[in-house]
Amino acid sequence: MARIGVFVCWCGENIARNVDCGKVSEAAAKFPGVVCSVDYKYMCSDPGQAMIRERIVKDKLTGVVVASCSPHMHLKTFRKAAEQEGLNPYLVEMANIREHCSWVHHDKEKATAKAIELIRMSVAKVMYNHPLDPIRVPVTKRALVIGGGVAGIQAALDIADAGYEVVMVEREPSIGGKMAGLSETFPTLDCSQCILTPRMVEVGQHPKIRLHTYSEVQSVEGYVGNFKVNILKRARYVDMKKCTGCGACWNACPSKKTLSEFDFGMGTRTAIYVPFPQAVPARPVIDANACLMLTKGKCGLCEKKCAAKAIMFDDKDQVVTEEVGAIVVATGYKLYSIGKEQDRSKLAGYGEYGYDKYKDVIDSLQFERIVSASGPTNGEIKRPSDGKTPKSVVFIQCVGSRDNAKGMAYCSKICCMYTAKHTMLYKHKVHDGEAHVFYMDIRAGGKNYDEFVRRAIEQDGAKYHRGRVSKITEENGKLIVRGVDTLANEPVTVEADLVVLASAMRPADNVEELAQKLNVGYDEYGFLSESHPKLRPVETNAAGVFVCGACQAPKDIPEAVAQASAAASKVLGMFSKPELTREPEIAVVNEQTCAACFACVRTCPYTAIDRAEIRDRKGNLIKRTARVNPGLCMGCGTCVAICPSKSIELEGFTEQQIYAQIGSLV
Ligand code: SF4
Ligand code: SF4
Ligand code: SF4
Ligand code: SF4
Repeated sequence: MARIGVFVCWCGENIARNVDCGKVSEAAAKFPGVVCSVDYKYMCSDPGQAMIRERIVKDKLTGVVVASCSPHMHLKTFRKAAEQEGLNPYLVEMANIREHCSWVHHDKEKATAKAIELIRMSVAKVMYNHPLDPIRVPVTKRALVIGGGVAGIQAALDIADAGYEVVMVEREPSIGGKMAGLSETFPTLDCSQCILTPRMVEVGQHPKIRLHTYSEVQSVEGYVGNFKVNILKRARYVDMKKCTGCGACWNACPSKKTLSEFDFGMGTRTAIYVPFPQAVPARPVIDANACLMLTKGKCGLCEKKCAAKAIMFDDKDQVVTEEVGAIVVATGYKLYSIGKEQDRSKLAGYGEYGYDKYKDVIDSLQFERIVSASGPTNGEIKRPSDGKTPKSVVFIQCVGSRDNAKGMAYCSKICCMYTAKHTMLYKHKVHDGEAHVFYMDIRAGGKNYDEFVRRAIEQDGAKYHRGRVSKITEENGKLIVRGVDTLANEPVTVEADLVVLASAMRPADNVEELAQKLNVGYDEYGFLSESHPKLRPVETNAAGVFVCGACQAPKDIPEAVAQASAAASKVLGMFSKPELTREPEIAVVNEQTCAACFACVRTCPYTAIDRAEIRDRKGNLIKRTARVNPGLCMGCGTCVAICPSKSIELEGFTEQQIYAQIGSLV
């Protein structure tokens, strides 16, 4: 015989303002099976919980309904209180009379009537609840970090320094990401490589970090605590164990020069190359498309010069499998490359800026390379067309950002700051040069950020024009930049030697494909979605998969690093327990009635259902059936809806419970 207790919360005035809680409690007392019904100001408070615990014992309750806020807020609180008195926590239900009632209705009488009905439904449901036990899953205490930029480096070091193994996968031949190519960083103007390269070396030498560079995640199987990851290691054609990084090979390589990816096309490299001098690992890779031996079967100079006998022209791509318990995604960003064919998006519509047409119109990462001491011009600012020092540079902000019509609706967040930095770096090197900035408005939220922009204007004399550029043309070797200053309300024309476009920050290539492999959600722009923007900013909808850095949204370095440490702390939290527990509200197949149509297998968005066989002792096949993997099932209920033979039920949301709720209402 069911003995249900109903506990109606006022939530201060949140509920009580629009719902007559006393009346609700009185009505609930008359529902079948209810043996106690009380109301109280704050049910989640210590006295509120004590009241629930006391009544569980006193009234020998077999089920509890708390009518208060959303279960997202306090279901765990009330389940814990019940558990303390020996009542199975899954015999506690909540009726949401706040978000679903008092907050959305103003007619107190009607809201009160609705609250009564919501509780009636929960009472009907709890009658059919049965005790459940949390699912326990073992955890492999190793983490995978995807992406070796500053965020990935931070996450990997935090986890490895805590004593756990880390597998890092980086697509490029070296770790370091975009930060390795930056000149100086805002707002301190400290050298980017000087901050980053010691951290890169730490990763390279860390006994707990296994580095796979020039590699990509090919597939991911398994579930939280137990992932199996196949990693495609692309052929480097260089034996990493034998190579000493002496440079004899790349110094001898006679191949036609290829545009350097690291210099964003501002410099060149040979077919066998190390992307930059501080690369980790500091070992070369052969670009098979540029190598004379691999394309035409002749040359082999690098092999002859290599004293360590490290060149391997017969090297092949390999797949290695790593087992990990948690995954941190830190794949970073790319810049929206205006009009370039590698960015095939419909947004490649800024032809008026002449990026493809004029050599001296470049993007901000290209400017970083020509202003960087390690760049192709050794830090001397020279324009790409003729190598002369530009005496007038125009910087254009918000190219592709905040542009609903042609670009991305979002603000790229860092370009206001790095543009101010670029004007300073330029003026520090070209004292008699002029720096003009066209901007929409300045977004400089951050410690010392606004002061930094002011310094660019007031001390270094950058000329800021509030307005858009409508067209760039070339006349007599000069770029004619036509725009408008909306503050002065007049057209502005600047004769420039160089134009730098602060183009939008976008997620790195193929991140959507990776998200699908990981079952992680992403937004319309391809940025990975966090589980909750405020409360779970580094978790994702896939248990055990965390995000950090610019793969989640545009971010500057301090933010990316802070988020990386947050992701690492979540991983360490997981690893601190001997095993993981999961909520038991998952799908269960009745294997006797399952018709083995496998509609559920095809439908499950989390690939949580396997095709299984039931065999007798002699191994003869009795029948085929679907079987849910409890580690993977997220309890979404999709399979329940699709099963034609009604052979799947969701624990805690059985058909009996749902019908009881509906029945009580109608
Ligand atoms: Fe360069 Fe290829 Fe010749 Fe080696 S074999 S030196 S990589 S072109
Ligand atoms: Fe525009 Fe500044 Fe936002 Fe970049 S950070 S998109 S320049 S407002
Ligand atoms: Fe069995 Fe239903 Fe899945 Fe078909 S949909 S395989 S009947 S559980
Ligand atoms: Fe897959 Fe959802 Fe069914 Fe679980 S409840 S097996 S996640 S469809």
